[in-house]
Amino acid sequence: MHETTDVLIAGAGPTGLTLAVDLARRGVACRIVEQAPEPAAGSKGKGLQPRTLEVFDDLGVIGPILAAATPYPPLRVRMGRVPVWQARMHRPAEATDAVPYPTVLMHPQWRTEAVLRERLTELGGKVEQGAALTGFEQDADGVTAGLGTGETVRARYLVAADGGRSPVRKALGIGFAGETREEQRMALGDVRAEGLDRDHIHVWVRPGKGTVALYPMAGTDTFQILATLKPGETPEQTLPGYQRVFAERSMLRRVRLTELLWSSLYRVNIRLADRYRSGRVLLAGDAVHVHPPAGGQGLNTGVQDAYNLGWKLARVLSGAPETLLDTYEEERRPVAARVLGLSADLAGKKSYKRDEETYQLSLSYRGGSLARRGGDRMPDGPLPLADGTRARVFDLLRGPHFTLLSAGLAPHVPAGPEVRAYEVAEPYGGERYTLVRPDGYVGISTSSADELAAYLAMV
Ligand SMILES: Cc1cc2nc3c(=O)[nH]c(=O)nc-3n(C[C@H](O)[C@H](O)[C@H](O)COP(=O)(O)OP(=O)(O)OC[C@H]3O[C@@H](n4cnc5c(N)ncnc54)[C@H](O)[C@@H]3O)c2cc1C
Repeated sequence: MHETTDVLIAGAGPTGLTLAVDLARRGVACRIVEQAPEPAAGSKGKGLQPRTLEVFDDLGVIGPILAAATPYPPLRVRMGRVPVWQARMHRPAEATDAVPYPTVLMHPQWRTEAVLRERLTELGGKVEQGAALTGFEQDADGVTAGLGTGETVRARYLVAADGGRSPVRKALGIGFAGETREEQRMALGDVRAEGLDRDHIHVWVRPGKGTVALYPMAGTDTFQILATLKPGETPEQTLPGYQRVFAERSMLRRVRLTELLWSSLYRVNIRLADRYRSGRVLLAGDAVHVHPPAGGQGLNTGVQDAYNLGWKLARVLSGAPETLLDTYEEERRPVAARVLGLSADLAGKKSYKRDEETYQLSLSYRGGSLARRGGDRMPDGPLPLADGTRARVFDLLRGPHFTLLSAGLAPHVPAGPEVRAYEVAEPYGGERYTLVRPDGYVGISTSSADELAAYLAMV
């Protein structure tokens, strides 16, 4: 007997977890299996972009994230004891009506994953740790997958969120074109340190030796340590190994690393998969795009892949046309291509400065097959309603539904997916319907009730 489910997710990194949370709140039967026996340690992808914070708000995890995350402190670059430069990588900004989370926040990846896992538990799901996907076969109706536990699972769809080495992508023979920058390797770890303030990101540059940086990790008493490596250099990944690299580059004796909690070697890879879908198997996150760490885009792009895919899978499982799933690759692959260009540029530059392009707020699906005079992110803001009350846009959008705003036209909700309709008091842009997708992008903006009905039938 096979266990059956609607969606099987392989990999419980940030991408798989985001998808599991989104599907769970939609009531989709889903299992998420992870090969590692325990949740991952490691601060890795530590920058949460403004758009990701909006996604987390919608998924109900923004509270615990904001409880620990902080803006990036100023960065101080020194040569030995001599400060040579001070700057901000991400400048804290004031929230505006349209952008409630304007600032990139620092939050260690292990904690982001823990918050998502906790939300999944609240929604009745759980990660099956120590359960690797070992193989799969697909047919017209679904996927039969083997797990390392010996179990066989039958699912209508398999989502591979199995990271940069993605065994699923490899098994499907999907190309992963791009480059590995052997000259841009680094050692990365989480350490405790004595003698170092937590109000700065500390960077030391020693010509001929290399660079070492310590980021005080928000919500913890640890630092993320990053040391550039010369070709062929492979430091010992132990506390004394990191202490040696630190002392050599900073030329400081007073700072002592006291504990190493996690460590890894990292090679800059810039790659994009040829396809995001093969029949009933969909791929997301690092499995389809890997980034240099500069610009903090990797984790964020994966979270947003999952957020784009979640509602589409749920709709198709409820009877919407299968072609809706094709729009996942159509919308998300060009985004990854652009983000990869951006992160590669940032990795090439010696600049630490970031700007709005990395916030992922201006990202748009305009011109795609799901956009009818739409495609842009629906901004937050106060919204006067016809019943005399005032709402905030994001309060109306929060949840798994579509949101229909009708301005100067009678609310009109044809049969189809769950739509919450609101009549807006002051028409903006004339009489029209604005339908916002569950992932917060405008699907259609029209004055025609028939066109609206046709759009809803499509999704
Ligand atoms: C060492 C390191 C340092 C990084 N540093 C940064 C950084 O500084 N800034 C930044 O933005 N990004 C960084 N990243 C990238 C960032 O961590 C990733 O973009 C992000 O983790 C991608 O999330 P994901 O869920 O798509 O994949 P992952 O986080 O890789 O998760 C994939 C999961 O799938 C599991 N898995 C694999 N195969 C199977 C299988 N067969 N069955 C079941 N489970 C499986 C893995 O165990 C893993 O838990 C770093 C990554 C690494 C590895």
